[in-house]
Amino acid sequence: MHHVQLEGSQENYILGKVVCIGRNYFDHIAELGNEVPDQPVLFIKPSTSIICNGDKIRIPQSSFDCHHELELAVLIGKQASKVTEAEAMACVAGYGIGIDLTLRDIQSRQKEKGLPWEIAKGFDTSCPLSNFVAAGKIGDPHSLRMRLEVNGEIRQDGMTSLMMRKIPEIIAEASQFFTLLPGDVVLTGTPQGVGAIKSGDVIRAEIEQIGELNLSVA
Ligand code: MG
Repeated sequence: MHHVQLEGSQENYILGKVVCIGRNYFDHIAELGNEVPDQPVLFIKPSTSIICNGDKIRIPQSSFDCHHELELAVLIGKQASKVTEAEAMACVAGYGIGIDLTLRDIQSRQKEKGLPWEIAKGFDTSCPLSNFVAAGKIGDPHSLRMRLEVNGEIRQDGMTSLMMRKIPEIIAEASQFFTLLPGDVVLTGTPQGVGAIKSGDVIRAEIEQIGELNLSVA
């Protein structure tokens, strides 16, 4: 279990499930040659996939192509079930940095066979998360610069303004299927620049107004 103290408030949370949206930045859809989805692509990483600042990523031995996907992470502070877009932002407690680690080779194999790809997305250590900052301390979450470096080399450098579905829409849509509880996290998609990481790599991610997330690969 991971406890978080929300920076800029007195609130504490135990992190729960992580609800993710795929294909939410056009430039990333294009780099993977995917189609723009007409419905949001939603999936869940279990709470056991979460690791924190300073922890080690452990890539399963069966994969040879583990990709980083830098994403703005939204911490849920109030239960949300079948909420509207107008109601959604009242359920947000804060914002953090998330990395949606993806075993691209296993995901591709599963997709080709028409099989679920949870193992490619929800394995242990597949969801590094930073500290969270209270929503009231962040200006506009849809205009934050986000960057990810591997071994000092910039791989991803994007803006949250380029999300196709914005945070209220993602929360409203996810809550039609999954009740979001306090401590749950919503990942909002990744901009272009995803790429492979390997044993020994050092990863540094940052999102403006939030802070940094530092990790290494075991
Ligand atoms: Mg992702």
